[in-house]
Amino acid sequence: MSRIADTIHELQASLPEGVELVAVSKFHPVEALREAYGAGQRIFGESRVQELTDKVPRMPADVRWHFIGHLQSNKVKYLIGLTSLIESVDSPALLALIDRLSAERGVVTKVLMQVHVAAEETKFGFSPDELLDFFRSGAYRTLKATHICGLMAMATNTDDMTRVRADFHTASALQQEIRRICPDLRGFDTLSMGMSDDYRIAIDEGSTLVRIGTAIFGNRVYT
Ligand SMILES: *Cc1c(COP(=O)(O)O)cnc(C)c1O
Repeated sequence: MSRIADTIHELQASLPEGVELVAVSKFHPVEALREAYGAGQRIFGESRVQELTDKVPRMPADVRWHFIGHLQSNKVKYLIGLTSLIESVDSPALLALIDRLSAERGVVTKVLMQVHVAAEETKFGFSPDELLDFFRSGAYRTLKATHICGLMAMATNTDDMTRVRADFHTASALQQEIRRICPDLRGFDTLSMGMSDDYRIAIDEGSTLVRIGTAIFGNRVYT
């Protein structure tokens, strides 16, 4: 059996009940995705719109595609109806656009709100305060064709696992706070956090969706 298939089997066997695996396949060829698919993997994560739309027709129809990268507004239209989850909604304007295009297409799009809890300045996402303001405002109630399923977060890129754990803890606590503020928010259950180097800590802190690339497919060759 291939190394990719082995790793998928090991991960699937080791993840606790209630934690789903996204195989982050960005920058990897379709052949690698097919090996993972052959091992039973059905959720794949991509971070570039063009790469995702190229791969979709080359993979079986029951694959669930998650978009995990920064999404530019002019590219949203390509994802509507194609993705099972957009994990990286990082502004109210992007959310409004997804909602409008989904309504026009007659589909419901599932999304996660990306929250910025890491120390780096460069990462996209709502700050915790912006996110709390958004939910306090009740703006989510006006959505017609978008289901906000939860939050996505990345920890600080550091070897300091105390810091990583604290970041995940912040995201998890924020999700609970939002639930408390918005008791009418239904199905706000997903907490996407944890990558190859930190997914075990993320699961400890309440992750329900881990996004693992390198540990499955090896190092990416950036193009
Ligand atoms: C690339 C990427 C991952 C996967 O990271 P690995 O360290 O390769 O497991 C997870 N989440 C997001 C948002 C990514 O862009």
